[in-house]
Amino acid sequence: MDTKYDAIVVGAGNGGMTASAALTQKGLNVLLLERHNIPGGCATSFCRGRFEFEVALHQLSGMGTAEQPGPLRLMLGSLGVIDDLEFVEMPDLYNVAMPGGFSLPLKTQKDEVVATLKERFPHESGAIDEFFDLAYRYANEFLAAFYFKDPEASREKYPTLYAYAFKTAAEVLDRIFTDPLLKAIVSVYWGYLGLPPTRLSFAYIAMLYFTYMEFKPFHLKGGSQALSNAIVNRFMANGGTVRYNCGVREIIVEGGKVRGVVTEAGERIASDYVVSNASQVSTYVQLIAPGIVPEEALTEMGGRSLSPSAFVLFIGLDCEPEAVGITETTNFLLENTNFTDEIFNQMRRLDIDDQLMVMSCYDLADRDFSPPGTCQLNVVTLKYGEPWLRVPASQYAQVKYRCAEGMLDRVKAIYPDVGSHIEELEVATPLTHMRYLGHPFGAIYGFEEHMKDTMFFQPGRESPIGGLYFAGGWSGDCGFQPTLEAGMTAAKGILKELDAA
Ligand SMILES: Cc1cc2nc3c(=O)[nH]c(=O)nc-3n(C[C@H](O)[C@H](O)[C@H](O)COP(=O)(O)OP(=O)(O)OC[C@H]3O[C@@H](n4cnc5c(N)ncnc54)[C@H](O)[C@@H]3O)c2cc1C
Repeated sequence: MDTKYDAIVVGAGNGGMTASAALTQKGLNVLLLERHNIPGGCATSFCRGRFEFEVALHQLSGMGTAEQPGPLRLMLGSLGVIDDLEFVEMPDLYNVAMPGGFSLPLKTQKDEVVATLKERFPHESGAIDEFFDLAYRYANEFLAAFYFKDPEASREKYPTLYAYAFKTAAEVLDRIFTDPLLKAIVSVYWGYLGLPPTRLSFAYIAMLYFTYMEFKPFHLKGGSQALSNAIVNRFMANGGTVRYNCGVREIIVEGGKVRGVVTEAGERIASDYVVSNASQVSTYVQLIAPGIVPEEALTEMGGRSLSPSAFVLFIGLDCEPEAVGITETTNFLLENTNFTDEIFNQMRRLDIDDQLMVMSCYDLADRDFSPPGTCQLNVVTLKYGEPWLRVPASQYAQVKYRCAEGMLDRVKAIYPDVGSHIEELEVATPLTHMRYLGHPFGAIYGFEEHMKDTMFFQPGRESPIGGLYFAGGWSGDCGFQPTLEAGMTAAKGILKELDAA
């Protein structure tokens, strides 16, 4: 081991990148090691033909405006990258589209959302007010008590938080609404969270409405790759070193303390601090030698379940979106109002059923996103990785394209003209996510956020091993905003330890 770094960061996903940049900002000598040949993890793009396809980002939360900045804008400002980026406010909260011509676009203002829903569902007028008031009350109480850590938090002071913290979204929706279509429409955000309403905490739905309506959904010029490039460039400008095509094979632990890493090429590099942006599962089970991680931590991890992966179509069209009837940036495609656990079972099957999909068309918010006269669609549905691991290698291509056809048929059932304008089409399966992220079963949202594993019970950024921290979607909530923030928290933990030393 020659150079000893102050910290080594394993993985250049959102959490790894912000941890690295924050540590170098305080003068630490940091090495960032990434297995892929570009930074970003999920936050990347790739090129096919004349299109640069966005991999993951549909709607960035927590931004707010320059005048009324949200937490993410403030954080990116503190990292020194905000002026390197051009953010694009998205005009829609979302549209819900169904075969047969049903379309319900919602704008981003809360009162507009409420008015649009009341117009379509006048018989549920009072219930619509009740639902959004409850979501806002819950979010405000959660932020005050939990996020800002009110030391005097109590049931009396925060009655909504205490009453709803452990209710599923389905329980709340069933109590407030009667119309099944309305229930399906106001719960579509579960597609961003990985679990259907019967299993998902109401808290997440409430927080997503609050953050998107208050701070508005955003995208960026150049997509999420521009964000990743900006953070890594800042990291290098601060004096950090990044190595791509450089996976980590082992985190060296001696006497209960981190001592460095071994790369997949066999190089040993010393450091007393390691931040892992890899999954907690691979960190504990693959990267650290057996017998070192305390049994208690392994048992705790064993009680959690893995989130789904995703099946994604990246479609380049040779026309403007309006030519095929697409007029909103974010579209949740519904086949029916199925609101039972059957949705969960569908996610465990290979083929595309009538499950929820989200289709983004960034070009409607940013006309320069694709080449002139073209546009791109990113269509995602959630699928667990396990059935894909059982597909024999010889049948993988056939199964992948069969599923892609099934998904495309669902899109064409709503937008029939899409089929005759496809110029490029690429497909990502759970195995693609497994390969590029290195996460078990290609899970894209870390551990499942079941009621027992909600934001109140997450693993956290620290570990029982001295000097080992976690940053990313496996130690807290997933999504861009939480994982970017995760890196900052991990960095703060290390800086605090160093200050105290
Ligand atoms: C299809 C899709 C759509 C999404 N849509 C949205 C959205 O609209 N809004 C939103 O907020 N979120 C969305 N997300 C989720 C969001 O992208 C993720 O939660 C977030 O980007 C995860 O960041 P992370 O820090 O956990 O790192 P990850 O992105 O998981 O990256 C981990 C990195 O670590 C590297 N790595 C792993 N092991 C090793 C090793 N041993 N050595 C070196 N490197 C290693 C990997 O190569 C990877 O680069 C979406 C995700 C996907 C896949």
